[in-house]
Amino acid sequence: MVPTSLGLRVECTGVGASPLGAQDLTPELRAWRFEPGADSVTVTLLTGLPLTERSGWRAQLVAPVPGSDRSRLVIDLSPALADLTPLLQSERVVAGVPPRLVAQSTALLVLGTALVKPRVVLDPGHGGADPGGVGAVTEKQVALDVALRVRDLLRPAGVDVVLTRETDQALLQDKAADLNQRAAMGTPGTGLFLSIHVNALASSTALRGYGVETWWNPNHPLSSAFAGLIQKNVIAVTGAYSRGLKNTTSLAVLRASRIPAALIEIGFTSHPVDGLNLQNTNYLDRVALGIAQGVREALVTGVSAQGTGAGAGK
Ligand SMILES: [Zn+2]
Repeated sequence: MVPTSLGLRVECTGVGASPLGAQDLTPELRAWRFEPGADSVTVTLLTGLPLTERSGWRAQLVAPVPGSDRSRLVIDLSPALADLTPLLQSERVVAGVPPRLVAQSTALLVLGTALVKPRVVLDPGHGGADPGGVGAVTEKQVALDVALRVRDLLRPAGVDVVLTRETDQALLQDKAADLNQRAAMGTPGTGLFLSIHVNALASSTALRGYGVETWWNPNHPLSSAFAGLIQKNVIAVTGAYSRGLKNTTSLAVLRASRIPAALIEIGFTSHPVDGLNLQNTNYLDRVALGIAQGVREALVTGVSAQGTGAGAGK
C-alpha cells in the first residue's frame, strides 16, 4: 500500500487480473484501474484528496469464507479516517513551559518580581441541560473528556490550567450569560483561552461535514496565530482532515474574550467516520495531545497575553 497525493497504489504479487478500470465513481473514489505485470497486479485508486500513511484510508485482509480459496482485501476510503493508533507512553509528554518573571505591585508600590506559571483557561463547551450536538457522541461529554486530558498533559509541563467547568454542568441557566461568564474567566494574567466543541450537521447534509476546524475572533491581535497553532498541532497528531481556520465575530464566547482566544471543533458527531473517531479514546488522546502541544507552542513563542501588574499569577 503506497499512499500518494493522488490516492492509493496497491501492489499485489502472485496474483493476476485483466486490465480494467472505471471513472467518475464517487467523491471519495474518483477512479480505479488494474494494471497487470508479470506476476503481479497494481491497483491504483484515485481519491478526491491526498492520502497519507496515517489518514484517509484503512485496509484489511479478510480470510476466505468456507468453500472458497479467495481472500478479500477490503480497503476503506474516507478523508475522515484518522490515526487511531494508541499514543506511546513516551509521546504523552509535553515539554516544560518556563515560568515568567512578572512584576508584583499594588496600586501604591512595586513589591518586586516573581516567577509565575503561565495560566490558560480551557472551556469544555455546553454542559448540564445543554448537551450540545448529539449523535455518535454527546458533545458536552466529549468536550469535557478532552479538556481534562489536556489539563493532565499541561499541568506537569508547568502550566496553570483552569477549566470553566470540571463536571457536567452549565455555569448559568441563561445561555448568553453562561457564555459571557466563561469568557470572563480569561481574566488579566491569563495567557490564553480555548473553547473545545464537537460539530454537528443535520442528517440531510451529515455526509458533507467531517474533520477539524478552529475558529477565532479578530478582537485580539494574537487570536489568529493562536488558532493556527492549535489547528496545526491537532492535525499533526491526529492525521484528521483539516477544515482549516475560520474567522468569525458571531461566536459569543470568543467575542467576549479580552485575551487571545480560539474555539476548536474536534470532529462531527453527525458523520459516520468522524463519529467513530470521537468514540475512540485513542483519537481523544491524540486531540488532547495536539491541543496541549499547540498551547505550549503559543506560550513559548509569545502568542499569549502578558500577565503583568497587580493580581498577576494569583
Ligand atoms: Zn458546541
